[in-house]
Amino acid sequence: MSKKNKSDQFFAEAKRHLVGGVNSPVRAYKAVGGTPLFIQKASGPYVYDVDGNKYIDFVGSWGPMILGHSAPAVINAVKKSLLNGTSFGAPTPAETELAVLIKEAFPSIDLLRFTNSGTEATMTALRIARAVTRRDRTVKFEGGYHGHSDGLLVAAGSGATTFGVPSSAGVPEVLARNTWVLPYNDVSALKDIFRTQGPNIAAVIVEPVAGNMGVVEPSMEFLTTLRELTIKHGAILIFDEVMTGFRVAWGGAQERASISADLTCLGKIIGGGFPVGAVGGRKDLMEQLSPLGPVYQAGTLSGNPIAMSAGLAALQTLKRTKPYKALETLTKQLVAQLRSDAAKENVAVQINSVGSMFTLFFTESPVTSYFEALQSDASQYAAFFHTCLKNGVTMPPSQFEAAFVSTAHTPAVLGKAAAVFRKAFKGVHAK
Ligand SMILES: *Cc1c(COP(=O)(O)O)cnc(C)c1O
Repeated sequence: MSKKNKSDQFFAEAKRHLVGGVNSPVRAYKAVGGTPLFIQKASGPYVYDVDGNKYIDFVGSWGPMILGHSAPAVINAVKKSLLNGTSFGAPTPAETELAVLIKEAFPSIDLLRFTNSGTEATMTALRIARAVTRRDRTVKFEGGYHGHSDGLLVAAGSGATTFGVPSSAGVPEVLARNTWVLPYNDVSALKDIFRTQGPNIAAVIVEPVAGNMGVVEPSMEFLTTLRELTIKHGAILIFDEVMTGFRVAWGGAQERASISADLTCLGKIIGGGFPVGAVGGRKDLMEQLSPLGPVYQAGTLSGNPIAMSAGLAALQTLKRTKPYKALETLTKQLVAQLRSDAAKENVAVQINSVGSMFTLFFTESPVTSYFEALQSDASQYAAFFHTCLKNGVTMPPSQFEAAFVSTAHTPAVLGKAAAVFRKAFKGVHAK
């Protein structure tokens, strides 16, 4: 059993200076209660808190850490790059190298622009879509999270869900009104909106495997209908692969579904643990961006050389080692174990997984949409979460987040985690 004295002290101090003691809301543990761990360091599948406790980590920095923490290839690349300086505000060869690798993985991408976050990438993708279509309206899906820009903070998942705020305060109503929100996986709602509003829709933005309402897989029919309708009505199809890019396959969810997006947003893994996002896609669309076209977008630290070197090392390692099949197999085995242990403890749980992402929903019915995700018993998740934490396993501190398996999670490590999960199921009913 771990002690958290120092984390508690650091959190108390942090709250005096940082809003809620954190710089991104879900980190504050509001959804599960208690105080967050303050982290000292991380290596492979483990994070170590400031009290010296070691945890098997399934948060993975919320997605980037597919190679585990402190992956040697990434650390070495960063060390080397650091000695040349940290930022120049001028182009470097590494930006092109990373772009070439990303294009190899995503055949739908002709041209790219790097940003500093996923939020910037989705915001820019929408602006491009509005510019080329000369339309203002966008369609998104309930529980889909696309960063925190105004027009996209409508019925967003994860953080927003956790706090029970369907859309953020401070978002102008006119912008929210330009965003139509449909249930995920709902083909008939999709057909309806295009039948009635087709000529007004600039873009549809979608997580092509949802991760921010917890993991929810799209039906093939949902994705193919999306592709057909957007083509038919001249709307831009934006795949937000900030989480799924290089995670569910080398070529992301679009590789798994064999569907080409018009624009793709990336982030997380492509930065190797540094702040990197990207928007990429068809040449005629991307050429709308400044300096070639009329759509303005910029960034003082965009394409930062350290961040590029980290992303390059990560993607080169993924390309060389092709871990995706093995990761998916290990994750499936873990999930099968979890299901059978939950059944033994009479815990009603749905475990959704795609590739190396998984989520436990404490509900009796399958979860294919945000509405169904919301039927989960969040207090059971909180109990599960805290037993895990006390026994050395970090899960996402919210029911509506994905857990991640990395290449550093060996079968032995996953076996240890499974034993903790078994114990945590026992605690779910205890009050
Ligand atoms: C994480 C995430 C974002 C936002 O990326 P940030 O780098 O946090 O701004 C956008 N879309 C999806 C699907 C994400 O998972």
